[in-house]
Amino acid sequence: MKVWINSNTKEVSIKTAEKIKQSLLNAGIEIDQKNPDLAISVGGDGTFLKTFHEYSDQLATTRFLGVHTGHLGFYADWRDFEVDELIEALIHDTKQSITYPILDVEVTYADDSVEKIKALNEAIIKRTSKTMRADVILDNEFFEKFRGDGLCFSTPSGSTAYAKSIGGAVIHPKSHVMQMNEIAPINNRVYRSISAPIIAPSSQAIEILLAPEDDYMVNYDTNSKIDCSLKSVKFQLSNESIQFAQLRDRHFWGRVEHAFLGTNDFI
Ligand code: NAD
Repeated sequence: MKVWINSNTKEVSIKTAEKIKQSLLNAGIEIDQKNPDLAISVGGDGTFLKTFHEYSDQLATTRFLGVHTGHLGFYADWRDFEVDELIEALIHDTKQSITYPILDVEVTYADDSVEKIKALNEAIIKRTSKTMRADVILDNEFFEKFRGDGLCFSTPSGSTAYAKSIGGAVIHPKSHVMQMNEIAPINNRVYRSISAPIIAPSSQAIEILLAPEDDYMVNYDTNSKIDCSLKSVKFQLSNESIQFAQLRDRHFWGRVEHAFLGTNDFI
């Protein structure tokens, strides 16, 4: 097995990453940055998202694992003080993995050039200033005219991130669906949009036809493209997915409870 370890710049993360690297080398496991079978992220969710994008062109062959050094991470199963247990689990790894859906985003610029992007949490279209005007095409049929701050498209595992903050549903990552959330929609006699989250199955794409402006922003996970002249953006759940090394049980609802509620008591 070939492993690479990515960390953020926090001292605790750098030290933890170094400890993991040394322990892996001592166990005879190869370290390889270019084509790892396993990419380990040490830090928080932001570090994990960056690690995902670093290897997003080799999702079929790379599994991912998160070690968190701060607050609870949604993409991290291990804590920094559990390195010895982690190494032991890696030595006895049976290559089992669990997959979560990711998003394909196809951006068409005003000059008709097309760019393809992947997102693990979400992709958002907004304008830098002023409100955004767009037609929403759902499964090739006109659905609504949107006017407001923007539109957010999230994966199930991204549903606990930005989407939740704007009133989205929390979706179990075993569900193969994409969620669209309107951000501050304007609803009056002139503009009317559904103003509720839309959940689309993996077979359906949602295309956003944009009014011709040159200050669009496309934010995807920790990345963004700014001041873009866009024609349209198409979103659909990808045929690819992210594979997590399953070295321990991941209990999604327990993680949600722990992160957002923290009240484990029965009445
Ligand atoms: P960041 O790395 O500072 O992350 C912001 C917070 O979002 C952190 O607390 C992180 O743990 C949490 N987070 C990230 N992914 C999550 C997930 N799948 N489930 C639950 N919590 C999650 O911010 P950044 O680098 O600018 O962006 C990374 C991600 O942070 C974005 O993909 C976005 O979803 C999220 N974010 C959320 C808000 C918000 O809720 N208002 C604002 C900005 C960014």
